[in-house]
Amino acid sequence: MSTPRRLLARLRNLMAHREAQHGAGDLLALARLIAAELVSEVCSVYVLRGGDTLELAATEGLRPEAVGRTRLRVGEGLVGLAAASGETLNLPDAQNHPAFAYRPETGEDAFASLLAVPVRRAGRLLGVLVVQNRTPRRYDSEEVDVVETVAMLLAELLAASQPEQADGGLSATLPRRFGATSLAPGIVIGPVMLPVSGRVPQRLLADDPDRELQRVEQAWEQMQRGIDRLISDQLPTAQGKKAADVTASREILDAYRLVAGDAGWLKRVNEAINSGLAAEAAVSRVAGELRDRMRRITDPYLRERLADLEDMAGRLLDHLTGGQALEAVPAGAILIVRRLGPAELLDWHARGIGGVAIEEGSPSGHAAILARALGLPAIGGARGVLESASTGDEAVIDADEGQIFLRPAVELKQGYLSVIAARNARQAGWASLRDKPAVTRDGTALKLMLNLGLAMELGQLAATGADGIGLFRTEIAMLARGAVVDTPEQTAVYARVIDDAGSKPVTFRTLDLGGDKLLPGSPAPEEENPAMGWRSLRIGLDRPALLRRQLRALLLAAGGRKLSVMFPMVATVAEFRAAKGLLLAEAARVRPAPELLRIGTMLEIPSLMWQLPALMKEVDFVSVGTNDLMQFLFAADRSAPQLANRYDVLSPPVLDLMAQLLEHGQTAGVEISICGESASRPLEAMTFVGLGITNLSMPASSILPIKALLADLDVAKFRPYLAALRRTSAGAASLRDPIAAWAREHGLKF
Ligand code: PEP
Ligand code: MG
Repeated sequence: MSTPRRLLARLRNLMAHREAQHGAGDLLALARLIAAELVSEVCSVYVLRGGDTLELAATEGLRPEAVGRTRLRVGEGLVGLAAASGETLNLPDAQNHPAFAYRPETGEDAFASLLAVPVRRAGRLLGVLVVQNRTPRRYDSEEVDVVETVAMLLAELLAASQPEQADGGLSATLPRRFGATSLAPGIVIGPVMLPVSGRVPQRLLADDPDRELQRVEQAWEQMQRGIDRLISDQLPTAQGKKAADVTASREILDAYRLVAGDAGWLKRVNEAINSGLAAEAAVSRVAGELRDRMRRITDPYLRERLADLEDMAGRLLDHLTGGQALEAVPAGAILIVRRLGPAELLDWHARGIGGVAIEEGSPSGHAAILARALGLPAIGGARGVLESASTGDEAVIDADEGQIFLRPAVELKQGYLSVIAARNARQAGWASLRDKPAVTRDGTALKLMLNLGLAMELGQLAATGADGIGLFRTEIAMLARGAVVDTPEQTAVYARVIDDAGSKPVTFRTLDLGGDKLLPGSPAPEEENPAMGWRSLRIGLDRPALLRRQLRALLLAAGGRKLSVMFPMVATVAEFRAAKGLLLAEAARVRPAPELLRIGTMLEIPSLMWQLPALMKEVDFVSVGTNDLMQFLFAADRSAPQLANRYDVLSPPVLDLMAQLLEHGQTAGVEISICGESASRPLEAMTFVGLGITNLSMPASSILPIKALLADLDVAKFRPYLAALRRTSAGAASLRDPIAAWAREHGLKF
């Protein structure tokens, strides 16, 4: 019998008799068994006590007198580091690791190599399992696998001996506000609903792997049928939603199934079963690995793909364990979860939730796209909200401003109730604007364009009455496919976009890949700062084959019609020239040639501001990407939630930059537009128009509200006010308050 199976079988015996024993005896027996099976000199169990202290609770190999005495804080020493990071440490030379903390009472100076695995259950840290050896060596992947599996069993032992800690205390009654990112707009007030967390399998080990494999197969089929039912039962009834949204949602769920089907994780489940785990324990283990991988990935899109897989694993587990009793959902409840997959979102929607806060949700995620399609207010990234909320607390999700209030004060709640009432009245008015041109009150014509990334979102063009597509993010479709798409397939996608847009203009942005937004098969560069690394156009210019293929696909898709292309992450005029050169070279070959070829750049890197005269000679248009521009201008990582509201677009440096850019653009006859998220926010949109920018590109949900707001704006009155404000506010961190005050005084509703 292989080591893992024999070890797990012996552990099963041990656990079967555990009722008769005391916790400490269990732990010691477990430590001995592991040490013997893995041929390691030391195996120790550290148990979390009092929330932040890890105490040596049992050891085979260290001095017995250290048990109960040796303590490390979470974060202290290597054991504390494994606990704090939640990651396995595998070190051949532990004592020379900077985090090593020497505890003389243990006698551990004799041991060079160390494997430390955090012990967690349902996301909660319970302890750390450590294996040590005298000779320096790195533990191989099978050994790591075994110790990680044992850590899962150990979690059961520890959980059984420690009741859940009550999360009471003063903080549970105080009002709290959490900043967040908006995933789908809207405001909702309702009772908090925390789903019963962490599906924890009861059966861990099994004798008959074939039977377990069969169980997984059956559960998989049931799950697939369940998802089919979800799609057919729910989507067509998404009331008041357009057919395009419903199609979009179907495509998402299909993509979701694909992601889960081809990711090879079922294979991992089978391997775990073959090592002696029961089906549910194997699924749970593989889901745990996914969770760990997810913690290391910063790219929101990829995180969401892993969230889909986790959703799938959770469903499979439900089928294996006979399903969980469904909790009753109070009408209009606010669901708060750490992660949420698209099928789960549909489930909860069907059960009547009114809004959702997803701690690790991002706007590009499937759950977010579905929430928008269903008109369900949703926020993401509200770190800490899950810990502070209890089921039944009252909460307000303000997904327009990206915030959630727990246990709101009476006045705040009243304020929101009146906002909701006024909004309902206003929304009725917006629909009538769809087919009217975007124009300010005093007659300045505007272009309100869409930011899109998937062909399936094209229905938004008609739904919003937008003037065109100002930013088509071509990399999104490739990331959704998980592969570089070949030229004919790319051509088909772009052609569909141009076809659907009809007479409305479309600007395609070339691939903005890189950093950790990698396609399978690409070498992963080890970069300290991926956002500032080898990404986007930099890759395109260094590996021109991929870029040329895309440019050819765009030209073929245009098929003689107009084509507008822009390049992202341009830092120098030389880079722009090089990219334009590639496009022109392709254009010289493709027939029919486009009737008009417009070539522009995004302005995301501030260095372009000092090359404007040269740049303006080269470009047909410039589109400002404020998302990246803000991060590079203020040296503020756009994905760091702590910095989300620290620097303001409505501040002298940004407005001066825009004004200068506009001046150069006007002199050279080059159109300046804005396609960063800021264009979708009312005060920002109004200020850009006040500066003289008339082309704004934004997500679909903002088109009508921004159109309505700008229809009330008298630019002739606002412009001199803004100019005077800029003159007299040098050094101010933000001009938001005075701009908001002016808007209010002039009856603008934002
Ligand atoms: C931007 O940076 O503002 C932008 C529009 O591009 P992305 O958000 O795709 O980086
Ligand atoms: Mg960008």
